[in-house]
Amino acid sequence: MAMARLTAISGVGGKGPACLLVETGHARLLLDLGYGPNPGQWPDVGGVGRVDALILSHGHRDHAGALKLAPQVGSPPMHATASVLSRLGHSGDGNAIPLNGTAEICGVTVRTGRNGHAPGGVWLHFDLGNGFLYTGDYGVESPVYAFDEPPPAGTVVLDASYGDYGAPLDDCITRLSTVFEGGSALFPVPADGRAPEMAGHVARARGVLPRIGADLRASLERLASVDCDSLRPGVAEELSRIAREAPPIAARPEGLMFAGRADASDGEAAGLVAACGREDRPEIVFTGYYPPGTPAQRLVDSGRARYVRWNVHPRLSDNVALARSIQAKTVVPAFGDARYLEAWRAAFSPARVVIERQVVF
Ligand SMILES: [Zn+2]
Repeated sequence: MAMARLTAISGVGGKGPACLLVETGHARLLLDLGYGPNPGQWPDVGGVGRVDALILSHGHRDHAGALKLAPQVGSPPMHATASVLSRLGHSGDGNAIPLNGTAEICGVTVRTGRNGHAPGGVWLHFDLGNGFLYTGDYGVESPVYAFDEPPPAGTVVLDASYGDYGAPLDDCITRLSTVFEGGSALFPVPADGRAPEMAGHVARARGVLPRIGADLRASLERLASVDCDSLRPGVAEELSRIAREAPPIAARPEGLMFAGRADASDGEAAGLVAACGREDRPEIVFTGYYPPGTPAQRLVDSGRARYVRWNVHPRLSDNVALARSIQAKTVVPAFGDARYLEAWRAAFSPARVVIERQVVF
């Protein structure tokens, strides 16, 4: 198979937007073009030059939020699943790749599978070198999103967002169970990330439907219909029922409430935080990464809100299992801090761990 070169424009060696360049003898492919997660974090595509195709793993902002930079790399044809193209407003001019199947992009055979992380999200496997896998973000624990096992790959760029973290989602649920049982709390959440997982858990475990924001209701309806192929079996019916029957969030905060945005900087969560942030009830719980300077950080730092992680990325043990199952010889941990390098080296051994900007495979 043809050799190729990977250049991490952004996303390897620290938390940053996803943007990777893969070059073969015949084609230059850009994988993801993200923004953030922190304000002002744009990938530096100034030296990239013209690319032949842009391929998106999923629609989250840190993977697809910098599309306005596309003209700097020659406005290449965009490839993503139909669901992601639609969410990004590019159904008309994008090229749809399958959720689980094979595509031919610029002469390279690309296999895809569901990433267990987001609607329409996929991992991408390229028939280059001894196989090259880019997981984008992924998860194997999601009760909502399905994950497909990828094929063998000698080199893998995997989602190491969580560094050496190892607690299972069940531990997160245990830590949150007293909050759920208390029956009164505000959870600022991203509507198309972990919100459907948490709302589904509350509905199942407590037998009560939580109060949900308008953006989450719209997201649940979409997940249960046009995005149902991204879901685990039987989940669409459950999400559809929550979308139909869960009560809206009342003007005065009450009950278990799920509302966007996740850092409470905007949307219904921002209004609710403004309404009750100075009182000591209801409890406010953040469950995912929040950028500095956001209401989330202020409220957690002051002790008014709590932070309890709800896993949406793989644990180190998940990454090790994945690298073994695909027989990877070279592992490039992405989206995580370089301070975990020694932990990664120990965990992935005998595979080689690299966080250099360039890797030839
Ligand atoms: Zn993501």
